[in-house]
Amino acid sequence: MENWQKWVRGLRERIEILGVGIDRVNLLEAQARCLGFLNGQTAQMVFTPNAEMIMVAKENKAFHKILNEGDLVIADGIGVVYASHFVGKPLTERVAGIDVASLLLEQLAQTDYTFYFLGGAKGVAQKAKKKLEQKHPGIKIVGCHDGYFDEVEQQNIITEISEKKPDVVFVCLGMIRQETWIYEIGRHLPVKILMGIGGSLDGFAGTVKRAPKIFIRCNLEWAYRLLKQPTRFMRMLALPKFAWTVMVNRKKSEGVK
Ligand code: UDP
Repeated sequence: MENWQKWVRGLRERIEILGVGIDRVNLLEAQARCLGFLNGQTAQMVFTPNAEMIMVAKENKAFHKILNEGDLVIADGIGVVYASHFVGKPLTERVAGIDVASLLLEQLAQTDYTFYFLGGAKGVAQKAKKKLEQKHPGIKIVGCHDGYFDEVEQQNIITEISEKKPDVVFVCLGMIRQETWIYEIGRHLPVKILMGIGGSLDGFAGTVKRAPKIFIRCNLEWAYRLLKQPTRFMRMLALPKFAWTVMVNRKKSEGVK
């Protein structure tokens, strides 16, 4: 199985940003890949790194390895897209995890495929479920659980997912925790797709408003988020550091040639 997975991974067109492989796909291609995963026999992991996550992965080997084991790894951050131009292998667009998730919800609403939501503060996943059921009548969200649980509660979550066998699980536990959960626990469960998509349940629930379209179109969603959640300022310092590190690393690799 390991070899087969390696072989499939080799077929994917990927670029590397600071050692993290990113699939060279646009939004519709990412959606198509996810739909393909629904026909598979094992759980497929979808990761959505941005500049901040790649900087963390640079220092955290375990996290780095997990990201590189992803079956679909999309550039959920305009910084990653800019970096791809800088390393000479441009990605065509930013592919936000929440957009891929929205397309899947829309497309699978009229089918028998099922969803499970894991993450967010108490009540958020439930609220997201309710809102999405109103938006997409017929959608099957078979369960949800908040993202603050201990070992005992985790066992209940595992049992619930094992029994309900949802096809798609949105895992929204914040970076590192969600990827680690997917890698260590989620992928061994009887599901088809596990997507680590950070604050998306907050977005679906409406507890955190997404940036107006104009911000998204101008690639300024990060700035809007900073305005709305100024506490993210320290985290966002990773962006200039990321740009600098990508630049220095390119210079180094040019020196090696
Ligand atoms: N979260 C969670 N459990 C945790 C930590 C975070 O469920 O132990 C949730 C949090 O409530 C929020 C999301 O994970 O809904 C984190 O969103 P953020 O956009 O900060 O994700 P990141 O950028 O860290 O991936």
